[in-house]
Amino acid sequence: MHCPPPATPDAVPFFTAQGAAFGLDLSACIQRVLEQGQFVLGPQVRAFETAFADYVGAAHAIGVANGTDALTLALRALGVGPGQRVAAAANAGYYASTAIAQTGAAPQYVEVDEDSLTLAPAALAQALRGADKPAAVIATHLYGRMADMPALAALCAQARVPLVEDAAQAHGAILGGRKAGAWANVACFSFYPTKNLGAVGDGGALTTSDGALAQRLRALRQYGWQQRKYEVALSGGMNSRLDELQAAVLLAKLPHLDAANAARRAVAVHYNAAFAGLPVRCPSRLDESHVAHLYVLRTPRRDALRAHLLAQGVGCEVHYPIADHRQPVRRAESAFALPVTEAACAEVISLPCHPALSPAQIGRVTEAVRAFFSQGGAC
Ligand SMILES: *Cc1c(COP(=O)(O)O)cnc(C)c1O
Repeated sequence: MHCPPPATPDAVPFFTAQGAAFGLDLSACIQRVLEQGQFVLGPQVRAFETAFADYVGAAHAIGVANGTDALTLALRALGVGPGQRVAAAANAGYYASTAIAQTGAAPQYVEVDEDSLTLAPAALAQALRGADKPAAVIATHLYGRMADMPALAALCAQARVPLVEDAAQAHGAILGGRKAGAWANVACFSFYPTKNLGAVGDGGALTTSDGALAQRLRALRQYGWQQRKYEVALSGGMNSRLDELQAAVLLAKLPHLDAANAARRAVAVHYNAAFAGLPVRCPSRLDESHVAHLYVLRTPRRDALRAHLLAQGVGCEVHYPIADHRQPVRRAESAFALPVTEAACAEVISLPCHPALSPAQIGRVTEAVRAFFSQGGAC
C-alpha cells in the first residue's frame, strides 16, 4: 500500500488571512478610524448599517458585538424569556442554544432535512401544532445554504410564532430573489473573521424591516437606553456594540462580497465535479441560494478521511461534531430523538473553501480526497 508523504510547508490551510481581506489593503480605513478618534457606535457604524440594510434588502440593520449577541438580542426583543421554549435545529454549533439559554428560555430541538441539513418543514409543522407553541423559531442557513424559507416562514406566519434567521453563514445568499436576512421577522449575522463577510475581530448585526423591533434592538444593544443616555427604558439590555474599526473594515469589504461568494461557490462546484463517483455525499445545490461558507462532504469514514487529509497537509474541520442536545451541558435532559441530526454529526467533514485558494491548492485537496478513496484510506 502507498502511504502519503509527510506534510510539507505548502500545506493547504483551511482558512487564510489574505483570503479574509478579499485582497484589499485595509490599512487606509483603519488609519481613518484612528484619526477620527471615535471608536464605538460612530459614523462608520452608521454608514455600515445603512449599506448593509440596503445590501440585504431590509429596512434596518443594527450593528452589535457578535453573532451570538445578535441571536440573544433578537430573542429578547421578541419578548422571549424564562418559562418559554424556542424551536431550533441541533446541528448548528450550539450558537442558537447559547442565545436561547441567555434569555432563560429552553430549546426545543427540531429535526433537519436529510439533504439540506436545515430545519425540516414537516418537523417544524409538528412542533408548531397544538396550544403549547414555542415562543419563537430560529432557522439557521447552515454552511451557507439557505433554509427552506418559503415553507418555514409560511408555517410560522400561520402559527403566529415569530421567526428568526441565523444568517451568520449566509451573507449574500439569495432564494427566490430575496436575500438571507430579508425573510424573517429579524435576522442575525456574525462578522467573525472566517465568515463570508468577516471583520478583523468580532462583530455582528441584525436586520429587520419592523421599525418597532429595530428600535428595541437599538436600545437593548446599549443597556436598554432608548430616548436618553443613562435612562434605562427597556429591560434585558446589554452592552453589545459594534466598534468603528470593525465597521470601517466591513464597509470596505461589503462591495466585494458578491465576488468573494462567487469565488467560494466556484471552488465548491469544482470539488463536486472532482468527487463525482466517489462514495461521498456532496452539497446538492450550489446555486445563488448557497454561498459556500463551508464545503461539507459526508462519509461514514469521516474520521479516517480527516486523519488522511491532515497527514497530507490539507486543512479540514468538522462542523459540527456534537449535536446541541448531546453536549455535555445538556446530556441530562437530552430527551430529543433526532436521528438525521445525529447521523450528520458523525459524517460531516469540511474542506478548505475560500476565495484565496489557488488552482494548485484546489488540485491538491481533490487529489488527497481521491487518493483516500482509491487506496481504501488505511495508512
Ligand atoms: C459563527 C456563527 C454564529 C455566532 O457568531 P459569533 O460572532 O461567533 O458569536 C452563530 N450562528 C452561526 C450559524 C454561526 O456560524
